[in-house]
Amino acid sequence: MVSSLTCECCNRYETDINSLNVFNEIKLLFDEQVKNGVYLEEQVIRPYYVWTDDKEHIEYYATKWYRCMVCGCLWEFNYPDFPAKGFVKKYVDGIYSGTVIINNNEESKIADIVLKSKRNNNVYYMFSDEIFIHGEKNKSISIPMDNSIICFCDMYYVQDELLVVVATNKDYDYIYVLDEESNSIKKRGLTK
Ligand SMILES: [Zn+2]
Repeated sequence: MVSSLTCECCNRYETDINSLNVFNEIKLLFDEQVKNGVYLEEQVIRPYYVWTDDKEHIEYYATKWYRCMVCGCLWEFNYPDFPAKGFVKKYVDGIYSGTVIINNNEESKIADIVLKSKRNNNVYYMFSDEIFIHGEKNKSISIPMDNSIICFCDMYYVQDELLVVVATNKDYDYIYVLDEESNSIKKRGLTK
């Protein structure tokens, strides 16, 4: 069957949610889109806010993520908890880029990417030279040794596989798979 679904993502905008009426309206809209098969709920795996210092480490995750099955864009929906406002944010290219990281401890590094596991309770913090795994057992994975390697530069899921991209000084980069059982990385291939 050829799908004839259309979406209205282009006509909908990011917004703060500062009243219960607005919240109910927006929630209904998302629920309808899901019912119609236009939006699909997706696991929330990246925080929109990370705050850290010597003593404390806080991550906030939005309530819902929705993927548009028509245009591929990603919607982030955080329910209000008044007096705290909620919000709706849109990622047109479908890639989440909303994490704000505040590091109050000047000596520690700021992670480039924070990612929650889809499979277990791990949270991954990717720095340029290591991936710190915060979970039942904390562990850090160092950048693999090779003359051409520059830094870790990206990590994301493709289906249920967690891929890690390592930048090289060649005209391609390496792709590793992070095995979430053994918490280790194995080389998978090259980017184009
Ligand atoms: Zn759409």
